[in-house]
Order: sequence, then structure tokens, then C-alpha cells
Amino acid sequence: MSVESPAHPLDDTHDPALRSWVASANYPGADFPIQNLPLGVLRGGPPGAPRLGVAIGDRVLDLRRCREMRLLDGLPPAVIAAAAEETSLNTLLALGPNALRSLRRAVSTILRADGARAEPAALVPMSDAELLLPVDVGDYTDFYASIVHARNVGRLFRPDDPLPRNYRHVPLAYHGRSSSLVVSGTPVTRPRGQWILHAGQGPSFEPTRQLDYEMELGVYVGPGNAPGLPIRIDDAERHLGGLSLVNDWSSRDLQAWEAQPLGPFLSKSFATSVSPWVVTLDALAPYRCRSARPAADPPPLSHLAAARNDARGGVDVTVEAWLQSAEMRRRGLDPVRVSSAEFGGMYWTIAQMVTHHASNGCPLRPGDLLASGTISGAGEESAGCLLERTARDAGMLTLPTGEQRGFLADGDEVALRAYCRRDGFTPIGFGRCVTRVLPAATAVQV
Ligand code: MN
Repeated sequence: MSVESPAHPLDDTHDPALRSWVASANYPGADFPIQNLPLGVLRGGPPGAPRLGVAIGDRVLDLRRCREMRLLDGLPPAVIAAAAEETSLNTLLALGPNALRSLRRAVSTILRADGARAEPAALVPMSDAELLLPVDVGDYTDFYASIVHARNVGRLFRPDDPLPRNYRHVPLAYHGRSSSLVVSGTPVTRPRGQWILHAGQGPSFEPTRQLDYEMELGVYVGPGNAPGLPIRIDDAERHLGGLSLVNDWSSRDLQAWEAQPLGPFLSKSFATSVSPWVVTLDALAPYRCRSARPAADPPPLSHLAAARNDARGGVDVTVEAWLQSAEMRRRGLDPVRVSSAEFGGMYWTIAQMVTHHASNGCPLRPGDLLASGTISGAGEESAGCLLERTARDAGMLTLPTGEQRGFLADGDEVALRAYCRRDGFTPIGFGRCVTRVLPAATAVQV
């Protein structure tokens, strides 16, 4: 595989002149125009098992119905089976970038305004569809790829030497728990746990008082690697399928007590929310950018370095978090934006994350989720979690109702969104990842 042939080239599916016969896909600012075509899994519309779908405007194209209508004829049989017979994206992801691209081209043709094969019966209104976890995630890893976030968090614990000494050399991460992954719309219950309620005393077992969101993107693994066989950085993106929004729920009081000396455990394993739509690396091809690592920094070790990664390893995505309290909902007030940061500013690229992860021979499997870590930039509103924003400056967030927030309260709803914009191309979005906070539960006797 030569560096001259990128895994995800630009082609006519990115043409900004393309329009769809699905009218809502052509509205300015739509998340899901015909140039996006993200993949997901839905239940709804015609009864039956979960099936794969593609978001288009405010509709979902049902790929099982497309196969029944013979709209997928001409694709390789393995791609048709993966798209129309499965109940998760795993098999399709495992087939790799050529399979994903062939499906994208077929779907683009089906949905084009001038396409002769327009079929409204294969469309489900998104508002009627139950969108499920798109991928059956075997392993979930969360990186720490924003140097701004690492420095902000480090400053809280090590004011004189905030950035870990290894940071510029090794893409740091912890292993998450895939059983705690939930799709947008699933509420999160405030966890109980051990933490220090009164300084200088022993721990208590109480509901967390420092519940936080972490604004992230995650990338799903496509074809895996065999145990013992690392992934070359020039091939890394051929092992990746697409990106989703990720909210890595965190309890800071639990985390401060338990993460001495090991990494996060119960402070994070109660819930991690993901968006229902996977935006493929093909859809993101117009929005690639240089790696944000400054040229003056020490270069990464050679297995993590590549000219193409320097030139195109970044992905230009603006990611935002919005907050609405129960009181704001009661008064009919819209959510307020509490975070906005650029994924293109991450210190480590997605290719470096996957290469590093497999560099010891660790087998990655189709559908594994590699999240980026909190996405933060410079400036107060660019902090990707409340810990950085309210603990760093000891400042509270004031909501339009006058309510104050250091951390999240019961009834708060956090919505992540993300979008890509570049001159000469049609803007695309990731949809939303919405989660409401429920009060702590008591143990149930079974
Ligand atoms: Mn995280």
C-alpha cells in the first residue's frame, strides 16, 4: 500500500453540486446532506429486527429495504450481506475501506436528485426510528490526545509541572468498559462511590457531587490486526471505519480518590454515551488537515511518524457541548453552549492512536472504539469538560435561569454535536448525542 494512494480519496460523492430527492437533505446547514451518508442501526418503520440505515436529511434510508428493491445489485455479495442482513455495523467495518466506499457510492447514486432509482418506500422518518447502538463494541479505549486538556488537568494536580513528561512521546490512554456504552437518548444515573467528603478524614460512600461530561470523538476500528502483528502508521487509516460523538461521563470526586496510582475505574465505568451515526472517513475526506503537533516539538518515534500523517492526519471538526437544566426546560429556555473546540487541534492523530495501540502486538478487532479523550482548546469556552472550566478558575457556570453549576445537577441534559465546514464543500454534521442525568439510585434487591 503506497503512500500515494490514500485510503479515503475525494471523489464525485463529495461534489457540492449534488442534490438529493430527499428535500430535507438539501436544506442549508443540514447535518445529513447527500455528501455525508453516515451509517447507523435502526428499529422502526417496518416491523422486524434491527437493520442498517443511512441518515439523509430527516430520514433514514433502510438498507434492508434497498436490497429487497434490488437497489444494491452490482455491489460485491459480501457488501450486500453486510449491509442488508446484519444488526450492527461490525461486519461491514471488518470488510474495510473499499467495501465502505463501494456502499457509499451505491447509496449516493440511490439518493441523487437525478438518480433514476429513487425509492421513497425505503425511507423511514428519523423521528419514528429507534436508533440503536450502531456497533457491537468489544473493547473501548479512551485516549488523552488533547495537549491542552492534559495541561489543564495536570495543572490542578501539579501546578509547577502540569504536562506529564511522557506526553509528547506516548499517546496516553486507559481501557474503558464496553458494557457501559449507551446510545444517545439513554439517561445516565448519578453514580455512588467512594470519595473524600471531608478533607483529612476517611472516605464516604455517597452519590458523586462532581459529575462531569467529557466532550470527545471516537473512531471505530474496521479490519483488525492479528495478535502480535503491529499496524504500520501508513496503513493505519485502512484499519479505521468512521467517527462518532462520545461523552465519557466522569465522577471527579471518585476519580481523585481511586486513581492513585492506577487509572480511572469506577469514576468512568458507569456510562459512556455515543451518537447513533458513524460518519465514515470517506465522508470526512474533504476536511482533513495537518497534524497539530508543533514542528518545534520533538518528533515522535519513527513508528508513529509519517509524512502523510503530518500533512493530512488531522480531521477538521468543530465539536460542541450544550447544557439545559430541568428548570430551563420548565421555563421553555433553549440549551446554552458550554464547550466548543476543534478536533483538528488534537496533539495525536487517529492514525497515531491506532498504530500506538497495536504497536505491542495488541489485537484490535472490528468494532473496537478508540475515543480521543476530552477535546479542549485555549479559552474558557473551549474547555471540553467542567473540571477544566470550573475547577481551574474556581468559577461557576451561570445558566440563563441564574442557576449555578460547578458540576452537573440531576435533571441536567448534555447534548454534544459536531460539524465540518470548508470552503468549496458542503457542510456535514454528526447529529447529536443527548443524555439526561437521573438522581442516584439505591441498590435493588433481586
Ligand atoms: Mn475521557
